Amino acid sequence: MGTILGSDDELEEIHAAIAACQRCELAETRIKVVPGEGSDKADVMFIGEAPGRDEDAQGRPFVGRAGKLLDRLLAEIGIERSEVFIGNVLKCRPVSIEGKDRKPTEQEISACSHFLDSQIEKIKPKVICTLGDTATHYILRKYGIKLDRISKIHGRVFEADKLEIIPLFHPAAALYTYCLERVMREDFRKLKSILSQKALEGFGA
Ligand code: URA
Repeated sequence: MGTILGSDDELEEIHAAIAACQRCELAETRIKVVPGEGSDKADVMFIGEAPGRDEDAQGRPFVGRAGKLLDRLLAEIGIERSEVFIGNVLKCRPVSIEGKDRKPTEQEISACSHFLDSQIEKIKPKVICTLGDTATHYILRKYGIKLDRISKIHGRVFEADKLEIIPLFHPAAALYTYCLERVMREDFRKLKSILSQKALEGFGA
């Protein structure tokens, strides 16, 4: 009889495929792949853009300065990392020839995003919070929702396919733009009240 895969095994299989991936040139420059982490039964997924230098070194998402801010914002609304799933559109660090973090290219996104699609399919979250423009555009396009800039749509709730999508500013933006941390804090408070309401309703289960 074949092995019956538990849910963790299925996520592990996706992560093993990410570790072996050679579909784009980032495979040559990465130190570690960053598949994402958290509960495979998470009701909520946070999706960022791509690993940066710290994430590339550690193989874990959001562990640098932006990640510390994300941790703080989550803690303020009573959420621990282990309760949610945190990942990225890209699983390897896009690095410039000067060795700096850079934005992912469209080709890199199309080579990599099937991994995120599989993670979403496996985890079946009730809420996806996108962090910044790259993740927001990828997810809104995936669910056929009209795109707009994050500055216009942050904190709004979009309904899709038994799922709510909540675009949020990327925490890195708040490190560089005065006042954005306050706006993010307001959006996270909104998120908290949406999640509390959904918890009362049993998360639509
Ligand atoms: N920025 C991201 O978009 N993702 C990370 O994991 C870290 C920084």
